[in-house]
Amino acid sequence: MRTVKRLLGRSLFASHLDALLLRNAAVVVAFHRVLAGADVSDTLTVDPQTFEAYCKFFRRHFHVVPLRELIGNLERGRTPRRELAITFDDGYRDNYENALPILESLSLPASFFVVSRWVGSDVVPFWDRKLGVRHPWMTWSQIRDLQKRGFDIGAHTRTHVDLGMLSPTAARDEIAGARTDLEDQLGTSVESFAYPFGGQDHITDANRAIVRAAGFRCCCSGFGGTITARTDPFYMPRVPISPWHVSPHHFGLDVALGRSA
Ligand SMILES: [Zn+2]
Repeated sequence: MRTVKRLLGRSLFASHLDALLLRNAAVVVAFHRVLAGADVSDTLTVDPQTFEAYCKFFRRHFHVVPLRELIGNLERGRTPRRELAITFDDGYRDNYENALPILESLSLPASFFVVSRWVGSDVVPFWDRKLGVRHPWMTWSQIRDLQKRGFDIGAHTRTHVDLGMLSPTAARDEIAGARTDLEDQLGTSVESFAYPFGGQDHITDANRAIVRAAGFRCCCSGFGGTITARTDPFYMPRVPISPWHVSPHHFGLDVALGRSA
């Protein structure tokens, strides 16, 4: 079945049928770690070779743009034209060490959603503790360097809380506080937000309103497929990329057929 998906994906793109299916759509993809030697059960990691293959696929088949450009287009009511924005969640140090050189070698923009109170810390989140692994976070100086090189930094709360469970008071501290933390460290305005865990139930309407009130221009989820002219930037779908996709073409097939939700 996985081979079939790979082949179907290839023929979809080889026949240019994708051009029709993705004509008035855009995509935001989400990565976590880019690291060699990951266990196949680790759905948060892709190895650097795979990451590079994805980047080349994106560059060949989409207009890779900064997330802020995609949001600007939606704000102006422009119909998407097959744009794709690359994003990373959590702020793992391998993003700086392994993804950055690949992105720069291919001249691709990207956004990094970092957990402000975990930057440079030795916090091990429960999902890594469960696997018995420990992955370091980027430092502020690495994040400032990303910014200096033209990449965008976005907020992902202060401590990676579930905004579906949090009272508005606590949520305000996590959301607006993360923006303050980042702006204090980076000295620029921080405009994008991705909520932790990214599922349908991982944010409440009240807490989504806090994201807007805090001055962000978008609220990215971790599901939902493609973006159209009618997409509200505060309900921004994203497509997580994990080893579950057998190849970039398999990813492309699912996105084109609307199965990435
Ligand atoms: Zn996260």
